Amino acid sequence: MTSVLADQTDFIECIVVGAGVIGLAVARELSGSGHDVLLVDAESDIGTQTSSRNSEVIHAGIYYPEDSEKAALCLPGKQQLYDYCEQRGVPVKQCGKLIVATTNDQKAELEAIFHAGQVNGVSDLSLLTQSQTLARASELSTVGSIWSPSSGIVDSHQLMLALLGDFENTGGTVSLNTRVHKMAVARDEMTVLLESDGLMELKTSMLVNCAGLGAIPIAKKMDGLDQAFVPGIEYAKGSYFAYSGRHAFNCLVYPVPTPGGLGTHLTLDMSGQARFGPDVEWVHDENYDVPVSKLDGFYHAVRDYWPAIDKAKLTPAYAGIRAKCKPSGKDYTDFIFSGPNEHGVPGLVNLFGMESPGLTSCLAIAEKVKALLNG
Ligand SMILES: Cc1cc2nc3c(=O)[nH]c(=O)nc-3n(C[C@H](O)[C@H](O)[C@H](O)COP(=O)(O)OP(=O)(O)OC[C@H]3O[C@@H](n4cnc5c(N)ncnc54)[C@H](O)[C@@H]3O)c2cc1C
Repeated sequence: MTSVLADQTDFIECIVVGAGVIGLAVARELSGSGHDVLLVDAESDIGTQTSSRNSEVIHAGIYYPEDSEKAALCLPGKQQLYDYCEQRGVPVKQCGKLIVATTNDQKAELEAIFHAGQVNGVSDLSLLTQSQTLARASELSTVGSIWSPSSGIVDSHQLMLALLGDFENTGGTVSLNTRVHKMAVARDEMTVLLESDGLMELKTSMLVNCAGLGAIPIAKKMDGLDQAFVPGIEYAKGSYFAYSGRHAFNCLVYPVPTPGGLGTHLTLDMSGQARFGPDVEWVHDENYDVPVSKLDGFYHAVRDYWPAIDKAKLTPAYAGIRAKCKPSGKDYTDFIFSGPNEHGVPGLVNLFGMESPGLTSCLAIAEKVKALLNG
């Protein structure tokens, strides 16, 4: 098969690296604004990495620190995503979510989460008593909860196909099986060395690095980029277990958050099937195995809020890896947009730490990248 790169001249106005949900949203936004865009991905299909390895939850925007990028982008992103899914027929369900306290000690945490949500502008939250919570989900073990009616689920694969369709309809080109090998960035020109059928060098004036877990390795190989603008990173693997058969829930159920994640929650797919996860395991390599030895830990974490869970119905499913970066001067992890105003290279935007709620926020992230490129 001849690569689509064979049709490219040696200059293309804009190159977006990574065809996950964020790269697709960014490429769609830039192409829809009239730019000539090439989207490249190392894999043989779009969205095979973190965008296929998550909870598919549309987050309300509750947990994030007030001045964080996550707080700023999740709320508008959520509404944009619901609207987009409706317009484009992408399966989506606004099923709502309970954040459940199982002990009286956790009530203070619930109140702190409720307050954080209010500060972030999530104005539709309510604090529920034990009986109000049980009226929504009678099999829970709980002393009270937060009800978030704007939380929901989305079919991430259909979403990515819709974004790809829009991108191609506005003249964008996708090149799969195309790995970024090396880059050189300078004030007047950027050069990208791509490996597809062979090696090919392209020059560009806009370069957006949306390579997910590959974003930092790529930035480390950028000749001409001051490495002070490449943050440190930690990786937190999150595994999931599927639950076969009947369960008692028609909304998402989250425990109070644990360090590094939102707790081993119950999420639903579009057919109503339940799965549990993700846990938090700090890792150094990219390994997606879900060992059956985790079964007991999952069972106990879920039994805490759902005592009727049948352990025999839990089976290892899949895992994803969260890329966690702290912006300089902050004590929390956040999305990091490293644009021309920061590193001084015109036309270059690096996206780091695009963990949750990156799926929810993808359309808002794309608008932010366009604004950074337009200065
Ligand atoms: C366990 C877990 C649960 C999550 N749950 C949720 C949730 O419920 N809701 C939510 O909003 N968000 C959630 N997220 C976050 C969400 O999944 C991510 O923010 C989002 O998928 C990131 O998309 P991306 O496009 O940046 O990355 P990816 O989907 O990983 O895409 C990056 C792409 O870059 C490509 N690439 C890498 N290196 C190169 C290279 N050198 N050359 C060419 N291509 C390259 C890869 O092949 C890949 O396709 C979760 C994340 C995890 C890990």
